[in-house]
Amino acid sequence: MKDTTRLVRVGLPDPPEKLAPGDPIHPGPIFASAYATPGDPTESAYTYARFHNPTWGEMEHALGALEGGIARIFPSGMAAVMAVFAALLRPGDTIVLPSDCYYTTRILTREFLAAFGITARLAPTANNAQREALEGSKLLWLETPSNPTMDICDIRLLADAAHKAGALVAVDNTTPTALGQQPLALGADISVASDTKSLTGHSDLLLGHVAVRDPELNAKIDRWRTLSGSVVGPMEAWLAMRSLATLPLRLEKQSQNAQMIAEFLESHRVVNAVYYPGLVSHRSHALARRQMRFFGPVVSFELSSRLSAERFLKGSSLLVEATSFGGIVSSAERRARWGQDAVSEGFIRLSAGCEDIEDLLADLDQALTNAASY
Ligand SMILES: *Cc1c(COP(=O)(O)O)cnc(C)c1O
Repeated sequence: MKDTTRLVRVGLPDPPEKLAPGDPIHPGPIFASAYATPGDPTESAYTYARFHNPTWGEMEHALGALEGGIARIFPSGMAAVMAVFAALLRPGDTIVLPSDCYYTTRILTREFLAAFGITARLAPTANNAQREALEGSKLLWLETPSNPTMDICDIRLLADAAHKAGALVAVDNTTPTALGQQPLALGADISVASDTKSLTGHSDLLLGHVAVRDPELNAKIDRWRTLSGSVVGPMEAWLAMRSLATLPLRLEKQSQNAQMIAEFLESHRVVNAVYYPGLVSHRSHALARRQMRFFGPVVSFELSSRLSAERFLKGSSLLVEATSFGGIVSSAERRARWGQDAVSEGFIRLSAGCEDIEDLLADLDQALTNAASY
């Protein structure tokens, strides 16, 4: 069965004949903290809600199938990132991190892992520069495309190099989602994502997941979740599952819109630079074509100044000025306002939604004209 068919049918009995007369086609979330557990607890499928929940199970089954591995969900992308760190890293270990990765991941290693004797070694995503930093490391952390500068690295090449150096490889796959890029099939040991973004796509919940191929590694991730209590509410899991069913529709439309927007921006005199892996001018376009199934919704670009970027955002009537990305509604923000990324004052990260492309391009055109004189 193709991914699209499997995703559309998420949560349904498999095969479909198993629906009994009168059954709801889509069962609702199961809310429980404790389950009836008479006698020997190993005889109950469910006992206590920090260990397991049937609604999580459905979502994890679908994510596992999509990733080509075993998945565990977490209450946010950062909770998923932390689960990988906690399951794998011990005092004295070194992690090789992209210097341009999602800034909270960098801050987490600086503020917390360092205190536990774990060293973070930083190198840029572009040109596979992390390869030079691998010696003696325990974990190679990749993020491709990197957020927000949309640089690309070669997952297969770096995974081979890391395995030779004795390190495991994790990919933060948030930007493309597992439908757009499959880290496990490309040789990574771990695929991690914030499902808050494109995967669920409705800007209404926080969620993350970790997927691996090795059952022993999954057991460590699972153990961390159960002991630390880093668990998802059933309502969030269920909402996410509803959203997952439309991922193929959303991602295809968003990627088409993003491509058209990137090409439009590239041809616009007010725009200094555009960063989108789907552009032939992107420095890693050929690699992106090989490695990704969709280029995704995120288009980053540069205007000449902070004022110009602010005028652009204010002048647009369709772009919601907000952080995050991957929602069905197009959004954008001036990234330097957070002060954590090495980007220019006029750098904008735009997330293409599912609106009609003619409306989007007309709006962008007038907003850029509005920004032109600054
Ligand atoms: C947003 C994001 C995260 C963190 O996810 P949350 O759901 O906000 O905790 C991690 N990695 C990347 C690349 C992200 O964009």
